Amino acid sequence: GIRPLIAGNWKMNGTIREAIALAESIGANAPRGEADPDLVVFPPFPHLHAVGSTLMGHGVAMGAQDCHAEPKGAHTGDVSAPMLRDIGCAYVLVGHSERRLNHHESDADVRDKAAAAIMAGVVPVICVGETMAQKAAGQSESVIQRQLQNSMPDRFSTARGVVAYEPDWAIGTGRTPSEEDITTIHALLRRLAPAGTRLLYGGSVKAGNAPVILALPNVDGVLVGGASLAAAEFLAIAAAA
Ligand code: 13P
Repeated sequence: GIRPLIAGNWKMNGTIREAIALAESIGANAPRGEADPDLVVFPPFPHLHAVGSTLMGHGVAMGAQDCHAEPKGAHTGDVSAPMLRDIGCAYVLVGHSERRLNHHESDADVRDKAAAAIMAGVVPVICVGETMAQKAAGQSESVIQRQLQNSMPDRFSTARGVVAYEPDWAIGTGRTPSEEDITTIHALLRRLAPAGTRLLYGGSVKAGNAPVILALPNVDGVLVGGASLAAAEFLAIAAAA
């Protein structure tokens, strides 16, 4: 089977001191058995160096929340995938809904970022998800199919990649899709993604609902926002995998 992946997206939160404390606490208490899930945290860019040092040797991976599609050059304010590899990132989120919606990233942008990540040796976590208006119009499956097909780069099948289903209306709202809806979408993702791709669900995952979500078919892990900012809750979610 596929080893589960429990991912914590810290988004734009905290100080360096807080990031180190959170990483220390997760690193010291992370489950390390053969049957345990993989853990990865996604700190903000300015905290990557300190978090990477803190997690060293603890078996918890680190990722970044975005990258540029080019490996270097005149791109003020951007961060390249080779830089992320250099600082110790094993993963990078691409196409999170907060990037797609707030920064107008297209599927083509997301695909180019994912390709850049693979080229640099960083595993892309391609995020997809429908809006509430699209869901209400019965378009969830068609929207997600189009997003994923247009967001996967050519070499995605060689990348041991990750796809996260995160409907934006479930993010930070305490609302989640029904078990049936998650099952339907993840079956679609399984059909579309290369064999071995880890499929995560994200959006209002907490310690309380994680056991039910993680038990659904084709759910290989979760992408946790708010609840990943407390080590005990994040570890409780990991314990449910
Ligand atoms: P919440 O867990 O805070 O809803 O955020 C989910 C998310 O966007 C993770 O990438």
